[in-house]
Amino acid sequence: MNPKIVQLILSLRGEGVSDADVLSAIETTPRDLFVTPEFLEQAWEDRPLPIACGQTISQPMVVGRMTEALCLTGREKVLEIGTGSGYQCAILSKLARRVYTIERYRTLLEEAKRRFAALKLRNIVPRLGDGGLGWPEQDNFDRIIMTAAATEPPPALLAQLRDHGLMVAPIGPSGDQRLTVYRRDGDQFHQHVLDKVRFVPLLDGIAKTL
Ligand code: SAH
Repeated sequence: MNPKIVQLILSLRGEGVSDADVLSAIETTPRDLFVTPEFLEQAWEDRPLPIACGQTISQPMVVGRMTEALCLTGREKVLEIGTGSGYQCAILSKLARRVYTIERYRTLLEEAKRRFAALKLRNIVPRLGDGGLGWPEQDNFDRIIMTAAATEPPPALLAQLRDHGLMVAPIGPSGDQRLTVYRRDGDQFHQHVLDKVRFVPLLDGIAKTL
C-alpha cells in the first residue's frame, strides 16, 4: 500500500481516532481524487487544503473525529451541509445507508458529483441549496453533519433531526469554534464539545457566482 496512506492512518490512530470502520473508510477513499492538481503531492498529509471557490477540504483528522462522533452503523440516513470537494461525503457513504448532501456553489457540487460517479458511490443524493435550511422534504435524519461553521446550531437542522439522533457541527464565533455533538431527546438537545476547530463559515443562500 502507498506508504503515505499508511502514515496518515497511523497518525490518525495516534491522535485518537480508533474506530476500525472509520479508519478503513479513510484508507480506501482516495483523497488525491478530491484535491486540486496543485496540491496532489500533499493529498495524503493530515492537513486541510484549498479547493475551488475559496473553500477547503477538511483535515483528515477532523474528518475522522467527526465521522467517529456520528456513531454510524450502516443503517442511517445522514444529512451533510457543505459538500465542498465531496471527500467527507464519500467517507460517510461507506458507513451509512444514504447521504443527502447540500452545497451552495454549483461548481463544487458538479465536481463532487463527478467524483461520486467515478467512485461508483450510488447512495449519495447531492443538491444545490442553502444548507442552513436543511432538506425539509426528507426530514427526520438519523444523523446531521455540518462542515461549515455557525455561531449557533441552525434551528431548521435541529428540527430535522430525529429523536435520539446525533448532529455534529463546528459551532461558535470565528476564531473560537468548537466541534459540538448534539443529541436529541424529545424537545431537548444535550450537547458536548469535542475539540477546537477552524472551519469556513456557513453562509446564507445559494452562491450568486460560480
Ligand atoms: N465537506 C467538505 C468541506 C467543504 S468546506 C469536504 O470534505 O471537502 C465547507 C463547504 O460548505 C464549502 O464548500 C461551502 O461552500 C459550503 N457551505 C457554506 N455555507 C453553506 C450553506 N449555507 N449551504 C450549503 N453549503 C454551504
